Amino acid sequence: MSRTQDAIASAEAHSAHNYHPLPVVVATAEGAWMTDVEGRRYLDMLAGYSALNFGHGNRRLLDAARAQLERVTLTSRAFHHDRFAEFCTRLAELCGKEMVLPMNTGAEAVETAVKTARKWGYEVKGVPDGHAKIVVAANNFHGRTTTIVSFSTDHEARDHYGPYTPGFEIVPYGDLTAMANAVTAHTVAVLLEPIQGEAGVLVPPAGYLRGVRELTRRKNVLFMADEIQSGLGRTGRTFACEHEDVVPDVYILGKALGGGVVPVSAVVADRDVLGVFAPGEHGSTFGGNPLACAVALEVIAMLRTGEYQQRAAELGEHLHAELNLLVGGGAVEAVRGRGLWAGVDIVPSRGTGREISEKLMERGVLVKDTHGSTIRLAPPLVIGKEDLDWGLEQLRAVLSD
Ligand code: PLP
Repeated sequence: MSRTQDAIASAEAHSAHNYHPLPVVVATAEGAWMTDVEGRRYLDMLAGYSALNFGHGNRRLLDAARAQLERVTLTSRAFHHDRFAEFCTRLAELCGKEMVLPMNTGAEAVETAVKTARKWGYEVKGVPDGHAKIVVAANNFHGRTTTIVSFSTDHEARDHYGPYTPGFEIVPYGDLTAMANAVTAHTVAVLLEPIQGEAGVLVPPAGYLRGVRELTRRKNVLFMADEIQSGLGRTGRTFACEHEDVVPDVYILGKALGGGVVPVSAVVADRDVLGVFAPGEHGSTFGGNPLACAVALEVIAMLRTGEYQQRAAELGEHLHAELNLLVGGGAVEAVRGRGLWAGVDIVPSRGTGREISEKLMERGVLVKDTHGSTIRLAPPLVIGKEDLDWGLEQLRAVLSD
């Protein structure tokens, strides 16, 4: 048995089968490249679902983490620590908001946003207690907790986890009329991904986000943008909402905020929204810990240069121009996305997304399929142009097999 087969067999024997990873066992990684236990190299075109926007083993992030490891890693929020204020200030600044509520994973940040919206609804808007409604979009992906899967339309994610949390209304993504019809006096928030990632990198029709912004403002409803996957440089801007010059009331951030080093997530909003929390009403042992703050501060400093956003915009333009050449050539049905982020729909007769991903793996490129016939490309923003071109060459080769 090879080392790869051995490691996979052991994992299969002793871990729950809630994932179906590609058969590669990564041992080390640097920049946009990963090396497996056999010494084979792979170009990472997934970047931990956008958690690795700044690449593997990023020097600045590792140095920040190392320095903090030697000082203090965890205090809990029972005490103050000396990285917390700076982290909250800098992140609030990056978002153009006043307050930050830090958590760890994306799902926790979404849960926090849901709690924020409900509390704001009862205490500020005046919705009768227990009647708050949040409008969400079909085909959303916001995480895996019981409340979040309660408003999922994906059977795999949702089935057999009931009883489900009430208080959510699902409308088609991109349909402003349906959204307007769903908003009532009891609606406290609209929760949306500005680009739906897991659904296959679906970009809403032009004007949709702006329409949602106008509607929510008019109806005194919070617009909560889940920028966990779309935010922090991926689309060529700091936030995907910026493509429509939209500023939501609440940003929900995660993934790249921890630079692929530690889990860091946050809800960011103004005082009139996040000010609803009083001591003891919400929290997390690890949320806002010193190590997380130190790494996230470096992430924020890197984003403040604008260099990563620019890179994602320039390389993204190139990526989409190349991918669009494949549409209509018999193997690719459609290509969507923005910046260094693309969903590629494969013509079903050419193979499933999984089969295409496996063939790409054999050629040294790692991607991930989603929803049957779509593959998702989201390389680290630090990828070199030649490496990106090499990855695209492998994709063309696989599609012409
Ligand atoms: N929201 C969005 C838009 C996501 O893409 C994800 C993860 O893919 C999540 C939330 C959940 O994040 P986590 O897996 O860190 O809980």
